[in-house]
Amino acid sequence: MMYDNIFDTHAHYNDRQFDDDRETVLAELPSAGIFRVINCGTDIPTSRVSCEYADKYDYIHAACGVHPHDCGRETADWEAELRKLLSPPKCAAVGEIGLDYHYDFSPREMQKDFFEKQIMLAKELDLPIIVHDREAHADTWERLKKYAPKGVVHCFSGSAEMAMDVVKLGMYIGLGGAVTFKNARKPLEVAECVPEDRLLLETDCPYMAPVPLRGRRCDSRLIPYAAEVIAGIRGCDPQALIDRTTENAKSLFKIR
Ligand SMILES: [Zn+2]
Repeated sequence: MMYDNIFDTHAHYNDRQFDDDRETVLAELPSAGIFRVINCGTDIPTSRVSCEYADKYDYIHAACGVHPHDCGRETADWEAELRKLLSPPKCAAVGEIGLDYHYDFSPREMQKDFFEKQIMLAKELDLPIIVHDREAHADTWERLKKYAPKGVVHCFSGSAEMAMDVVKLGMYIGLGGAVTFKNARKPLEVAECVPEDRLLLETDCPYMAPVPLRGRRCDSRLIPYAAEVIAGIRGCDPQALIDRTTENAKSLFKIR
């Protein structure tokens, strides 16, 4: 399985699961066909780390933002601190941001407040957003429709119908390891219907390792497993799908 020109639009190489060999993994990715990676922060400190990786590695760009899990722990100056980090091209997006009603680690009212503030900040700075939506489809959609931001709904878990609504708004759909899972009915329906110019590939590594490696630590080199499943259902060549999604990511994130 050898592919190139892979753009992983969603990774967390700052995660402690990479503490033992991060430098090795990050040094190896370009020679394994990885063209670009967006490393997503989930709070202010990890957003700062994402910018450090973007400084150190030519192929990495940062997304900076406060994840719904983490907004309850932010200090009062979070928005000012975030604003300082949001300078393209090193920082290419506001993310990851959104709503998570599965874990509810932060109160829902606070999640909505942080989500809206960061959408507005992204719009002000003309940056795309990277959206996390877990079991919060109605409230996520309500806000996307209201603000019509540029961006991607990552690890898309909604229906094919919602995916088409998101696409009509001008946004992108991010798909990864979940399309390979045994219970992947909805992601596969989404993979089939999204127009080719609106699809992005991602890992969400170290999480979401694809079948047959499910449960292992994931990294960007495992994207081909998802790409092959998506290409299979769309009846196209996996490398052609990878090339197309890379063009889409370059255009959304304004990365060459
Ligand atoms: Zn993530």
